[in-house]
Amino acid sequence: MTMPERVTIVEVGPRDGLQNEAARIPTAAKVAFIDRLSAAGLGVIEATSFVHPRAVPQLADADEVLPAIARAPGVRYPVLVPTRRGLERAIAAGADEIAVVIGATDAFNRANLNRTVDGALADAALVVTAARARGMRVRGYVSVAFGCPYEGEVPPGTTAAVAGRLLALGADEISLGDTIGAATPGDVHRVLDAVLAVTDAGRLGLHAHDTRGQALANVYAALERGVTIVDSSAGGLGGCPFAGPGAVGNLATEDLVYFLDGLGIAHGVSLEGVMEASAFIAGHLGHGLRSPTHLAGGRPRTRPLPGTDPPPAV
Ligand code: MG
Repeated sequence: MTMPERVTIVEVGPRDGLQNEAARIPTAAKVAFIDRLSAAGLGVIEATSFVHPRAVPQLADADEVLPAIARAPGVRYPVLVPTRRGLERAIAAGADEIAVVIGATDAFNRANLNRTVDGALADAALVVTAARARGMRVRGYVSVAFGCPYEGEVPPGTTAAVAGRLLALGADEISLGDTIGAATPGDVHRVLDAVLAVTDAGRLGLHAHDTRGQALANVYAALERGVTIVDSSAGGLGGCPFAGPGAVGNLATEDLVYFLDGLGIAHGVSLEGVMEASAFIAGHLGHGLRSPTHLAGGRPRTRPLPGTDPPPAV
């Protein structure tokens, strides 16, 4: 089996992570967090969302965050845009790449957008067409690509059909979201095999959640199918609204970096740099970080951490 030589990590902490955090984060801290992430080598950072401020109060400062970022050369800063109005705001704030979200099922779109899949795609078409006309790059998320909190298991063909329609609208790439953290590697293979019938692996990303401890195994399964784009969130920011309180959501960037390093797959990101960025934002969260690699203190050490007195190892 051939594994990819290089993976692009899409850092979603500042948007997908923070939008699921209860504590209100100051605008300046969000900007400093994003700048620390680019300094750590992340080449794609989803910076914020131009959703209606009432829907996600945490990201109501999107218009201030985006222009304040110290844009690093070569780094892409996509922003989530749900509506034409959101697109206008994003353009005014200097966005040059957007992301749109569609659920794979009617029930999920109804709960989130009061739309069916067809209706949500029609709305997305307006945004994508306008963005493409301005030369903006478009990332398309397919949420609940592996399982839906309302409909249960999602047939791979259903996910593939929605992904294909989003690509046909003009999306440059598709990120398949395991929104409820239900997928296992077998599911990843089955869904990817269906989606790979409508597009090639180079345009596909995996947005894995570690809710049931499957995230890195799922990434491995995606790499086996040639996927080279993987979403993750610094420190594992953001919980999972579809699981119990305190449940894990986004795969942590630290864990992904450590994992890819072990496989010898290039990604350009410094583990220590990500950990520094995560530690910075953790000071504003009111709770600890969820990344096991972060909790372990990064890479293995040859002697105990200062101040610890470990029992004899067995
Ligand atoms: Mg997520």
